[in-house]
Amino acid sequence: MDTWTKFLDCPAYLDRRGADRCGLPAVIEDRYEIRSLDGPLDSVRIRCPRGHWFNGPVDALTWQRTPASAGTAVGTVLRAPAAR
Ligand SMILES: [Zn+2]
Repeated sequence: MDTWTKFLDCPAYLDRRGADRCGLPAVIEDRYEIRSLDGPLDSVRIRCPRGHWFNGPVDALTWQRTPASAGTAVGTVLRAPAAR
């Protein structure tokens, strides 16, 4: 059984500040493994309808769509000890 997904959300940034991601479904065109010190890494080559393409480990190309407020909350927690 093939457990791979056929698409990943395109991780390309749409601006230089890194605030906006493409997010379109990028089709997985190729799958392969690369060796690392921690063992083999599942890797893919993906291409989105806008023409962005990436080649690398799945973990590096996968990103979470999180609300902006969640990022702010994490930043607040990390900054709190330094303010004292
Ligand atoms: Zn894209």
